[in-house]
Amino acid sequence: MSFESLNLNPSILKAIIESGYTEPTPIQSAAIPEVIAGHDLMASAQTGTGKTAAFMLPALHKLATPSAVKSRGPRVLVLTPTRELANQVNEAARKYGKNLRVNTVCILGGMPYPLQNKLLSQPVDILVATPGRLIDHLERGRIDFSRLEMLILDEADRMLDMGFIDDVEKIAAATPASRQTLLFSATLEGVIGKLAARLLKDPKRIQI
Ligand code: AMP
Repeated sequence: MSFESLNLNPSILKAIIESGYTEPTPIQSAAIPEVIAGHDLMASAQTGTGKTAAFMLPALHKLATPSAVKSRGPRVLVLTPTRELANQVNEAARKYGKNLRVNTVCILGGMPYPLQNKLLSQPVDILVATPGRLIDHLERGRIDFSRLEMLILDEADRMLDMGFIDDVEKIAAATPASRQTLLFSATLEGVIGKLAARLLKDPKRIQI
């Protein structure tokens, strides 16, 4: 399969070519068409398989079409277990979205609140966050999820292991029920399967 055949927005395709990628990885070939088609997704993929682009490329593709909702809040929310992973996702969003007009904001624990409050008061397209700090802002009424279209849970199994699952569920409950939800995890069984059953609607399942 080629990146051209995935029918991504030309500005995104240009950024992919500029990144030096020649063909999609298996998780990208499997996930991108399902996400563009609007399906929820649960995918098992380890780091190093190209999973970040598997969700970020179709998310950016959707952002290329303007939102009908008048709000400054994020259209895409990515939750990650660690600050390090959040930074990687943030960098990927900037790299693949560099030819689009997309505002990306990263909200991490351990960083000063005043700067984050300022970032959250400006228009945001993609918000990348660790759950604990995001809950703080949510409870203080600083986040407007009225135009949120896509919720992405990256490394959901690690968020579970780190005790973030209640926070993840609270955050999901604050987003529109009409959202599309993507869950990436090393395992899709057990507690993760139960979480997926609560948060995802008729998901496509991908195991790489
Ligand atoms: P990830 O699994 O998302 O952590 O990605 C692992 C690495 O693979 C990152 O350095 C990406 O830049 C790179 N990568 C992602 N997709 C591709 C691709 N289609 N071709 C070559 N490298 C890629």
